[in-house]
Order: sequence, then structure tokens, then C-alpha cells
Amino acid sequence: DLSGKTAVITGSNSGIGLGIARELAKAGANVVLNSFTDRDEDHALAQEIADVCGVEARYIKADMSKGADCRKLIEEAGVCDILVNNAGIQHVAPIPEFPAEKWDAIIAINLSSAFHTTAAALPLMRKAGWGRVINIASAHGLTASPYKSAYIAAKHGIVGLTKTTALETAEEAITANAICPGYVLTPLVEAQIPDQMKTHKMDRDTVVREVMLARQPSKEFATVEQMGGTAVFLCSDAAAQITGTTISVDGGWTAL
Ligand code: NAD
Repeated sequence: DLSGKTAVITGSNSGIGLGIARELAKAGANVVLNSFTDRDEDHALAQEIADVCGVEARYIKADMSKGADCRKLIEEAGVCDILVNNAGIQHVAPIPEFPAEKWDAIIAINLSSAFHTTAAALPLMRKAGWGRVINIASAHGLTASPYKSAYIAAKHGIVGLTKTTALETAEEAITANAICPGYVLTPLVEAQIPDQMKTHKMDRDTVVREVMLARQPSKEFATVEQMGGTAVFLCSDAAAQITGTTISVDGGWTAL
């Protein structure tokens, strides 16, 4: 039961971040949602979670590509017992053609943001005497694929940051771990299916199995609810001695 705890989830107005926010709220935690926009629908998501789960929920705009904004998010939240570093973007291109500004943006959003939020959140966790840092890495935090240099460097980097955070908090009631998802069916991934069907001249099932889930032995997408459930587990007492490690939720990807 996470009632009385507050979770800050970066990049949580869609996809995995929103799924994790929903599961943490269902488990009783108050949640702070975040992205770089400030639209009515962003605030409405927080209101919906508050109404459905009976917890406090709010949305705070902060751009995770900017260090000062990352720290401001935690300051504005005021309390941060559970920090979920989830914001992330992708760009696919061979290294010689990889735009330098895309490299910088991916390193900033997918890696450096977690440094800044962790730096701001650890003093709050120490004051509370309890804390959980959950970094959303990827199967690409443990293995590589061509053409995703910045993403893979950032995801391997966040696994390293996770281990260091764990060692610096090892003797306290604070843990730091990374969840490594395989392919997760988010709206973003769902939207790619029609294009892939056209490109490969395949029906939906075949394109999902043969193209999208080529490296995922289960041949099933993981779900945002499963990511949320894993985050809830990492917040439980059963997980109090799990720190500085990765949990793969990838249908066997990294076993190959
Ligand atoms: P998504 O695009 O639905 O979610 C990304 C979130 O990050 C969105 O809420 C977006 O608004 C936010 N974001 C982007 N730039 C931001 C910025 N500058 N400041 C603040 N927020 C920003 O994608 P998703 O699939 O839910 O991805 C979430 C995380 O999970 C990412 O770190 C991604 O690398 C990781 N991941 C996803 C998959 C997958 O298959 N979907 C697999 C492995 C890892």
C-alpha cells in the first residue's frame, strides 16, 4: 500500500509513464504527472486519476531537455518519495548521418534529465527516510541494434547511473533500479503498424510477429500495465533489498 507516498513520473502524459502513474495511483500513491506541454488535456489526465483512484494528482509542466527545468519539477512537487525517470525520445539514423542536435537532445532527455531529477529528489527522500528511484531504461540499455546510437548510449548510461545511485544510497531505506522494457504497445507503437503493413505488404498479425517483434521471443508486446505493476513491486517491502539492478520486462529479448 503506497498511500501517503508521492510519486513524480517524468514524461507521463502518454504511454508507459502514464501507465506507471495509473498503477502507482491504484496502489494508493499521490502522483505528479509531467511533460513539456501545458494543455487542458494534460491537467485533465491528472484530474481523471484523482477521481478514479481517490488520490492527489497534479500535472506540472517541465521540459526534461533542460537541467534547470528537471530540478524545478522536483522542487515544485515539494515531496518525492518515488521518482520515475521515464521521459524519452528516439531517432534512427546511421552514425555518420546522425544529426548532432538529435544526439544532444536524446542524451539530455533520456539520460541527463535523470541525473538532475535524482540530484533534486535524493535530499527529499533522505528527509522522508524512504525512497525509490525507478529509471525506465530499455532492452537497449543492455543490448544494441544498428542506427540507434544516441538512444542506446543514453539507455546504457542510465543503467550505470542507476547502479551509482544505488551505491550512494545503499545503507539507507532508498533503492534505485532500472526497468528494461522490450517492445511495449503504446499509442506511438500502435501508430506504426499501418505503415509497416504497407511497407512490408503484410497483414497486421504477420507484421507484428515477423517485423516488430522479430527480437521479442514471446511474440507479444509488453503492456504499460505490466510496466506499472513492476514499478509497484519495486516500491513494495518485498523489493527493499533489490537495488542497483535491472529488471527486464521484454518477453525474453535479452535471453537471446
Ligand atoms: P511516449 O512517446 O508515449 O512517451 C514519452 C513521454 O515522454 C511522453 O509523455 C512525452 O510527452 C514525454 N517527453 C518527451 N520529451 C519530453 C521533454 N523534453 N520533457 C518532458 N517530457 C518529454 O513513449 P513510451 O513508449 O511511453 O516511452 C516511455 C519511456 O519508455 C521512454 O524512456 C522510452 O525510451 C522507454 N521505452 C519504451 C519502449 C516501447 O516499446 N514503447 C521500449 C523500451 C523503453
